[in-house]
Amino acid sequence: MMQLRRCGAAWWGLVVLLGLATAAESHAADTLRLLIIDGQNNHNWRATTPILKEFLERSGRFTVDVATTPTEKTAAPAEWDKFRPEFARYDVVLSNYNGQPWPEPVKKSLTDYVNGGGGLVIVHAANNAFPEWPEFNQMIGLGWRGNNFGDRITLDEKGAVVLTAKGQGAGAGHGAQHDFTVIVRDREHPVMRGLPVEWLHVKDELYHGQRGPAQNMHILATAYSAKDKGGTGEHEPMIWWIPSGKGRVFTTVLGHADYSMQCVGFQTVVARGCEWAATGQVTLPVPENFPTPDQTRSAKKN
Ligand code: ZN
Repeated sequence: MMQLRRCGAAWWGLVVLLGLATAAESHAADTLRLLIIDGQNNHNWRATTPILKEFLERSGRFTVDVATTPTEKTAAPAEWDKFRPEFARYDVVLSNYNGQPWPEPVKKSLTDYVNGGGGLVIVHAANNAFPEWPEFNQMIGLGWRGNNFGDRITLDEKGAVVLTAKGQGAGAGHGAQHDFTVIVRDREHPVMRGLPVEWLHVKDELYHGQRGPAQNMHILATAYSAKDKGGTGEHEPMIWWIPSGKGRVFTTVLGHADYSMQCVGFQTVVARGCEWAATGQVTLPVPENFPTPDQTRSAKKN
């Protein structure tokens, strides 16, 4: 009898364990593992990373970890030896980083990760980083660089892509911050599907004259850079993606400050962009309080 009872207990324990394993697996299938990188930026990353983390987690689609680099721009190599994020453990990596070059092993780890099928998402000043890193420039297509750095892309009045060669036209800059209209240029892309074709974005910097290799770029949205706001008088790329090996790199230059990141349009596009970079599909819905052509919408209750 004693032996039978022990068998019974062991059998029951096995059932419980199997049940837990099944629950853990189905949970893992529903959520994507996302890593935010921060630690240096000419922007207030200490304020913006928590906003990114909050709305990504609130979507229910992600579990979010944060890897912070050494925070002093004079950090010594020994400090950097401690920064070895395990990109391969994640479905998607989001960069909120603009600072010192990364150590070679970290750079190689990121490019291997993306080329092997990982997703990379670049937000605002993260495209200012690493002008000296050729593979990074290739992955982001356009970065905050001078006009001698590389080509520039704009859209003309009919929506056709215009390539301005290196050395000609505006280099990187932006005018005064303001609310501005984002125009969806690829309505069939999974991230953009169901969004209003035009929507008013909360006060932000409107980047212009971004430069780089500009190869294999898929422009998803633009904004008109008005001259009376200190802009170029041209339609500048705001959201785009580039294939890199088996991976996808999704960039938005929106998101200068905490208030810009509270735009429901920004949050929707970044969350869907992360999901799409990770999986090639989008299941996250367009929220009912998405901005309209003439009304901004902030996720932050005033
Ligand atoms: Zn900025």
